[in-house]
Amino acid sequence: MIKHIDVIVPCYNEESSLDRFWKESGEAFSAIEGYEFRYIFIDDGSSDETLQKIRRLAALQETAKGEASDAPDPDTILGASDAPGPDTILGTSDAPGPDTILGATGDPAPGNPGACPQVSYISFSRNFGKEAAMYAGLQASDGDFAVIMDADLQHPPQLVAEMIRIVEETGCDSCAARRVSRKGEPKIRSALARAFYKLMNRYSDIEIVDGAVDFRLMNRKMVKAIVGMPENQRFSKGIFAWVGFSTEWIEFENVRRIAGESKWTMWGLMKYALDGFIDFAEAPLKFVGVLGGLTTLCSAVYFIIEFLKTVIVGKDTPGYASTICLILFFGGLIIAILSLIAEYIGRMYMETKGRPIYIEKESNIDEDKERKAD
Ligand code: UDP
Ligand code: MG
Repeated sequence: MIKHIDVIVPCYNEESSLDRFWKESGEAFSAIEGYEFRYIFIDDGSSDETLQKIRRLAALQETAKGEASDAPDPDTILGASDAPGPDTILGTSDAPGPDTILGATGDPAPGNPGACPQVSYISFSRNFGKEAAMYAGLQASDGDFAVIMDADLQHPPQLVAEMIRIVEETGCDSCAARRVSRKGEPKIRSALARAFYKLMNRYSDIEIVDGAVDFRLMNRKMVKAIVGMPENQRFSKGIFAWVGFSTEWIEFENVRRIAGESKWTMWGLMKYALDGFIDFAEAPLKFVGVLGGLTTLCSAVYFIIEFLKTVIVGKDTPGYASTICLILFFGGLIIAILSLIAEYIGRMYMETKGRPIYIEKESNIDEDKERKAD
């Protein structure tokens, strides 16, 4: 029996990566027998041609599928048509021809001999972030497995075959990838990331594997569990660990993105790390509690010493400097503690508003479902 795998691809301004992603992933997936692939592209409010490219891809695959059902012989499906195609797979032309995107040789799609992977997509009303995009993809997924991959080919599609093999052989629920090197990444980013993982694993309720990326194959049960966690401030690395299920790890060397630039800024990464820490750790709250207790104890001891000194030795010259130092110290400490608590309350406030994780502007998912039902 053929099993279905949904390939979830969050895309934010990925017009320069999509052509190669489509080609290389198609080639990799076509080598895997017994599985049918369906791409779920999530356009995360891109301001470039990403959505247009995805739309065209979906339309072309639909045509290819239609023609395939009329003429079942795969060799003739969309054969080297007379209609000239654009130079790139998904060139900006409005009339993409089958020459390139669907292979001049008559293959339904490059690297997908005899099989036409379906292309579904959801486009957001604005940029909601990769976390929201992954959630939307998982929500839309209904295959036996779902695999999340970046569009910039930093997650090698060739590993998917290995992931499937591991999941099928070991019977585990998920197979995830972790980078063994951080080559091509700024040194400061690597150092901060390492520190974050150490801190997180020490003080949070969950264990996050160093180098873990969002490239992961999951079975239906795990996908359902993740979709069932509709929290607004999402930190998937934590959620994957929190839901449990058995996970096997495979390792890969980091590669540079094929085109475009990383969407992460230093500030964005810091915020992401803080999100993870606050979402999955109560340690900061406990820590400030202990700190508060200790300072109270210290000031009590200090008060007793001063009191005894006054009673035994008599009044000392008042020390303005030390008084001001103490006021400043405790003032700062109180503000720091309050702002940490405010961070938690702010998150609670955001969650209680119950705002959606993303807002959809356009999608072909419902059409796909109707087509399936027919
Ligand atoms: N991405 C997204 N929304 C965003 C930022 C990124 O959907 O707001 C997608 C992006 O298009 C890519 C993946 O998430 O497919 C990883 O992004 P990026 O390469 O910028 O991150 P990095 O690899 O540097 O961690
Ligand atoms: Mg990347």
